[in-house]
Amino acid sequence: MLLQISEPNSTDNAARERKRGLGIDLGTTNSLVATKSEQGADVIGDASGTRLVPSVVNFNGGVKVGVAALDLAVSDVRNTVLSAKRFMGRSRDDLSEAQLLGLAGTDPLAFDTGDGPKTPVEVSSEILRALAARARDSLEEQEEGVVITVPAYFDDRQRQATRQAAEFAGLNVLRLLNEPTAAAVAYGLDETIAESSVVAVYDLGGGTFDISILRMERGLLRVLATGGDSALGGDDFDEVIVSWMVDQWALIDLTRDQQRRLSVTARAIKERLSESSEVSIEASGEFAHLEDLSVTRETLASLCKGLIQRTLSACDQALGDADVTEVAHVVLVGGSTRMPVVHDAVAQYFGREPLCSLNPDEVVALGAALQADILVGNGDGDEALLLDVIPLSLGLETYGGLI
Ligand code: ADP
Ligand code: MG
Repeated sequence: MLLQISEPNSTDNAARERKRGLGIDLGTTNSLVATKSEQGADVIGDASGTRLVPSVVNFNGGVKVGVAALDLAVSDVRNTVLSAKRFMGRSRDDLSEAQLLGLAGTDPLAFDTGDGPKTPVEVSSEILRALAARARDSLEEQEEGVVITVPAYFDDRQRQATRQAAEFAGLNVLRLLNEPTAAAVAYGLDETIAESSVVAVYDLGGGTFDISILRMERGLLRVLATGGDSALGGDDFDEVIVSWMVDQWALIDLTRDQQRRLSVTARAIKERLSESSEVSIEASGEFAHLEDLSVTRETLASLCKGLIQRTLSACDQALGDADVTEVAHVVLVGGSTRMPVVHDAVAQYFGREPLCSLNPDEVVALGAALQADILVGNGDGDEALLLDVIPLSLGLETYGGLI
């Protein structure tokens, strides 16, 4: 009898030897997990293909994360925690009165929920746990370690809190990486740009705006300055559209529910206007007596002008702090940079076409996945191991005169 002995072919071998690293963007509004395979870095979706995980957790006799929790954000306000990232590593003294509402009277600071007080670290650890579970289910494999991104301006306590959240979730943290650095890595800028070239990363998300100025120094991308506005983002664009609708229809005394409906409509209009030049709003249900409205991209642009101008003023400030005049690359990050009016304003401000070929809400996770892949040992050894500047010295440099 002949026994045929076959050798596993070499690509199979390589696939088996490849270690798994995950990149996680733990965002204020949305979070996501990505990984690098032979085909390159990609975001991991759920069974239905949805890639973004809303950074929302519901605690009520069980834990729900993401879309399932967001669905409860209106009907179960008390037990649903949104934007926990804003509270990471913070104490009562750091927070505004508005932020303190809804917190339990406990120390350390915690959200009051049906399952007792939950700290921001615990909330974030649930999001991280859900992201890792999604990756393991989809890849049918346990990861070696993860790279988690944090805002460049996060101080030591905020970074420590992020690490702790990952520990609670049982994750092996290879490194925390600055979000703007991750975005630059996703575009390969860490490997391609010349010494002392400057990169500006413009990140307009759901509730925050961050501008970061990076410079290539001895093979490392160093953060020269950060700036922005922690209360300016896509939500504010939604609100100007709501005000416009209220004006057009001369609405008065809206209930909370009606306001919520208008906000949801406004967000849909805004996102649709990134693809189409005009959108019509059909008044229905309790608004049925009102005439239909039409919004053009130009209308949206003029409504948003002031908000966009505020982001550009923050860019002025950051460029001044960094003491740079010449920017080699501009990277767009955050879902709100999908708005053509934002893209055009940024292009005009910096006098160059920004990098935007990757999905702006995925680019941070993709960069983190590339770093994770190298850190678990899949690189060929030539990659510069992008050591992110340590937070303490970063804080001093970043805030310069401000500290
Ligand atoms: P964060 O980094 O704050 O967690 P994201 O980068 O995911 O959040 O940005 C979320 C914001 O992006 C929301 O305000 C959302 O309405 C906005 N957004 C997403 N897609 C589009 C689009 N196509 N056009 C305009 N805005 C968009
Ligand atoms: Mg973000």
